[in-house]
Amino acid sequence: MSAAPAQTGTQLSASAEPLKFASGGHDQLIDFFGLTRDELERILIEQFQAPAYRAGQIFQWVYKQGVYDFSQMTNISAALRNSLAALIKFPAPLTVQRQISKDGTRKYLFELDKGNAIEAVMIKQPARMTLCLSSQVGCGMGCTFCRTATMGFQRHLSAGEIMRQVRGVIDDAKQFGDKFSNVVFMGMGEPLHNLKGVVSAVKILTDPMGLGIGPRKITVSTSGLVPAIEKFGQANLDVNLAVSLNATTDEVRTRIMPVNKAFPIDKLLGALRSYPLKPRKKITIEYVMLHGINDTDADLRRLPRLLEGIPSKVNLIPYNPNAGLGFLAPPKETVQKWHSTLTGKGVDAFVRWSKGQDISAACGQLAVKRPQVEPMDAAAISRTLAVITESI
Ligand code: SF4
Repeated sequence: MSAAPAQTGTQLSASAEPLKFASGGHDQLIDFFGLTRDELERILIEQFQAPAYRAGQIFQWVYKQGVYDFSQMTNISAALRNSLAALIKFPAPLTVQRQISKDGTRKYLFELDKGNAIEAVMIKQPARMTLCLSSQVGCGMGCTFCRTATMGFQRHLSAGEIMRQVRGVIDDAKQFGDKFSNVVFMGMGEPLHNLKGVVSAVKILTDPMGLGIGPRKITVSTSGLVPAIEKFGQANLDVNLAVSLNATTDEVRTRIMPVNKAFPIDKLLGALRSYPLKPRKKITIEYVMLHGINDTDADLRRLPRLLEGIPSKVNLIPYNPNAGLGFLAPPKETVQKWHSTLTGKGVDAFVRWSKGQDISAACGQLAVKRPQVEPMDAAAISRTLAVITESI
C-alpha cells in the first residue's frame, strides 16, 4: 500500500486559523459531531452575528437531550435554526454489526465511506463500562503483536467520525440500560498520529455542555510518538496518557514496535519525564507481556529502573494468543511474579486481563477485514513510519 499523506493542521490552538471542518459525508455540509463548542461559537458569531451563548444551548440540545434536528431547538429563533440547518448536518451513525461477548463486552462495527470501517468496544467491568474508541482506519505503526497493524494505515478519522462512534454506542446502550463511564482511545489506530481529530473529540467529550465526561475518566494511548506526546501535553487537556512500552531494551522494542527506531526508549522516557502532569497524576505504562520475548527476569529487573523519576503506574497486559500472530501468552505464574515483584519494589502495577476474547474485541484484535486491504510488509511499514514521523 502507499504511504498516507501527512495530516495537515495539527496545531492545537483554534484562535488564529480560518475555520476548516471535515465534511460529515458526501455533501459539503459541516458535520456537527466534529465541532467543538468554540468552533460552533465562531460559526454563530462570524456567519450569523448570533450571540456566543447559543453554542451552549445547541450543545445542550444535542448532547444532553439527544435532539439531532435544529427545527426542534425551540429556544432558538426560527431564522437562525433555518440558517444553521443549511450549513450544518447531523450525520446518522450506521451500526452495521454488534457482537456481544460472553463476558458482556460489546463490539460495534461502523461503516464509513468508501468501504472503510472501524470498530468500537464497550468493555464491561465490575464497577464501570469503558468505551474504547478508534481514531484511524487501520494503523501505520506496525506493532508486530497487533492485528490492526496488518491493515496498514488507511486514513485518519475526523473528530465527527470519532464522535459518531460515541453517539452510536450511546444510542444502542439504551436497550441494555447502561452507559459508559470511562473512555479510552485504544481501538484502531495511533491516537497521537491523529492529534487534531483526537484533541477535538476530547474537547467535545469533556465539555460540560457536551457529554461532560471528567477528563480523568478519559485515557489517550500512544505507541510512543515523542513529538506528538509533547504537543499533546501542550494541549493541556488534563486527560490520562497511556504509553505502550512493551520492552526494556531497544533491541526487543524495535523488533516488536518499529516506532522505536525513530523514538528509542531513552528518548521516549525523556519525553515522559518532562510531560506536564498535574499533581498526583500518573502516566500509565502499558506492557503487553509476550512470553519469551519481553517477560524475562532481566526485563523484570530493568523495568523499575527505567521508570525511575516518572510518575507512573504499570499496566501488565498478558498477551492474548487469539490474535494469531505467532506470539505466546505468558504463564499465569509469570504474570503473578511480575505483579508481586513490581509491587514489592514500590511500582504501582496492576494486571489487565483481556475482555471480549470470544468476539475478537480484546486488545490487538481489532481488525476489519476488507478485500482491498493488503497486509503490510516490513518495507511498507518503514515507509509509512517515515511519513508519520515527518508529519508530526
Ligand atoms: S498496537 Fe496500537 S499503535 Fe501499534 S499497530 Fe496496533 S493500533 Fe497501531
